[in-house]
Amino acid sequence: MDKIHEAEKATQEENADKDTMLRFMTALDDAIKVVHKRNHKWWISLETGEPIKRNVGELLMLIVSEVAEGMEGHRKNLQDDKLPRFPMITVELADAIIRIMDLAGGLGLELPQAWYEKMQFNYTRIDHTRAHRLGEHGKKY
Ligand SMILES: [Mg+2]
Repeated sequence: MDKIHEAEKATQEENADKDTMLRFMTALDDAIKVVHKRNHKWWISLETGEPIKRNVGELLMLIVSEVAEGMEGHRKNLQDDKLPRFPMITVELADAIIRIMDLAGGLGLELPQAWYEKMQFNYTRIDHTRAHRLGEHGKKY
């Protein structure tokens, strides 16, 4: 394949990727609303039914705990106990995503937009290039 065709193919692929990410961003925005609506019970007082202010640090650590559970499942090669057709790591990562989405919904974070922009930013980062990573202080993983 000549250089022009390679460049055209790369541009088409980048445009297709961008289109996929934009569609996901829209879907993520909608899904965050659904997740937060379904988790509404965690954002109101059990006693009064009034909205409560959640502890953001606690919610962030609950996300970490799901990731840690996923690590244990992977480390021990376990199937999930609630959805046994899936490996535990898969279900725990799903839990982490759910918690992240609920937090984003609860705090009104622009997560879909930030996700899209960070994907674009990371794509062109010098410190993520092979040459930089092979350098003395480059990121090895
Ligand atoms: Mg879990």
